[in-house]
Amino acid sequence: MISRLHPTQARKTLSALGRLLYDVEPRTLWDRDTDTLDRRYRKLRLRYRDFANEHLAPQELRADLSVTDDEIVTLFQTAARQGFQTEQLPRPFGTGGLRAMIGGVLWPAVLKSEEFAAGCAGLGLAILAHDLGTAPLLLSGDRKAIGMLRDIYKEIAAGEPAIAAFAITEPGAGSDVEDTAGAATADIVTRARKVAGGYQLTGRKCFITGGRVARWVTVFAALEDRGVESWTCFLLDKSMPGFSVGRGERKMGQRAADASELILDDVFVPDERIVGELESGWALNRNVLNFSRPGVAAIALGIARSAFEHAASFCRATKLGGRPLISYQDVQLSLAEMLTKIQAARALVWQTARYGVPAEATGALPKAFAARVAWEVSTEAMELLGDHGTLHAQGVEKAARDARLTLIYEGTHQINLLAIVEGQTGAELG
Ligand SMILES: Cc1cc2nc3c(=O)[nH]c(=O)nc-3n(C[C@H](O)[C@H](O)[C@H](O)COP(=O)(O)OP(=O)(O)OC[C@H]3O[C@@H](n4cnc5c(N)ncnc54)[C@H](O)[C@@H]3O)c2cc1C
Repeated sequence: MISRLHPTQARKTLSALGRLLYDVEPRTLWDRDTDTLDRRYRKLRLRYRDFANEHLAPQELRADLSVTDDEIVTLFQTAARQGFQTEQLPRPFGTGGLRAMIGGVLWPAVLKSEEFAAGCAGLGLAILAHDLGTAPLLLSGDRKAIGMLRDIYKEIAAGEPAIAAFAITEPGAGSDVEDTAGAATADIVTRARKVAGGYQLTGRKCFITGGRVARWVTVFAALEDRGVESWTCFLLDKSMPGFSVGRGERKMGQRAADASELILDDVFVPDERIVGELESGWALNRNVLNFSRPGVAAIALGIARSAFEHAASFCRATKLGGRPLISYQDVQLSLAEMLTKIQAARALVWQTARYGVPAEATGALPKAFAARVAWEVSTEAMELLGDHGTLHAQGVEKAARDARLTLIYEGTHQINLLAIVEGQTGAELG
């Protein structure tokens, strides 16, 4: 019997207006948050969740152990048929809304990233990385590059697996190509040499998400023997002679997404495939990171949610001392802490989406916060499950492994904190 002091009972003593103003509905935070969105984004969020529930979540444990490139390509095409791989341009050029290009591109990105990662962060990353690959084309603001994006979208609309990847990282330059101070002395090996009609690219990129399955790659290269200040972005396709895929990394988490080495051996790239202006690559890269970090924050958020959901259902289903685990106050406190962190991370991610165009700090802030949350929540979930927490079948050890990666890619945690400092110097930071 529910106590008369419980909020649902106590509410009955209020007047009709008082009852209207006192919400005691046991609704999920997911539903409450969805209600706050514009109609278009509300519908999109539901569609992303339906897609994740149908195509990602049922495969998450198996795909973590083994998945083929053909499966990833098929998944990409399935997502594309729903319009989820062409959202950076408005209709009729893509499947985005009217605000897709300016200011509105972040909302679909963060909503989609959370849902896909909640379904399976590995499969999710494999099909989310495409938007990162095409981001330089859009963010260059260059009509020619936006034309390239349109052409890729046309291929996708025709059913082609025209997957894109983004390549900045090199064997000797990870953080150094994401940070002002590091970039000044970065050890760059990927270089572009001017030849008649275009550039000849030689060098190596590593840890490129989707590098193996992508058809298109936005590659950043230094001109001749100069440094990052000469960086220029080129759109390469895999059929170009001299362009090959090297080693695939065997990594701890998000294993369904490949992280591959790309080898450029005198690849001729015509002038028409320069993205934006010559030597504008560094600025473009910095802005791509501003845009992509909120998406990575949303991936981390989705992982945290998945860990929480796995843990909560375990605590409901498991008995300890004859009582469900969830009836113990210690367990409830732990779940409440997890939920609070998840909700705080979502608030931060959505706040950045509201800015429309993220700045350096507003891009890095949710990433730094949510990646920590994902790690804390997933390890807390493992603790709640005890020995079961170590079992693959329970999903929480996978969540912890998946979470760890969000502290590293799109800039390590330290690099994101430094971006907050750089971005707010001259403002809160003096
Ligand atoms: C799963 C995965 C997917 C990835 N996908 C892509 C992709 O699609 N495209 C792409 O281009 N790259 C990708 N990367 C690369 C990724 O962005 C880099 O790994 C990342 O930037 C870190 O670089 P690093 O590994 O060289 O670390 P390092 O730069 O060697 O850093 C080592 C340590 O030093 C710290 N550090 C470095 N500089 C500073 C500083 N100035 N101040 C304080 N601490 C510092 C770092 O925080 C870190 O703790 C991916 C990586 C992973 C793991």
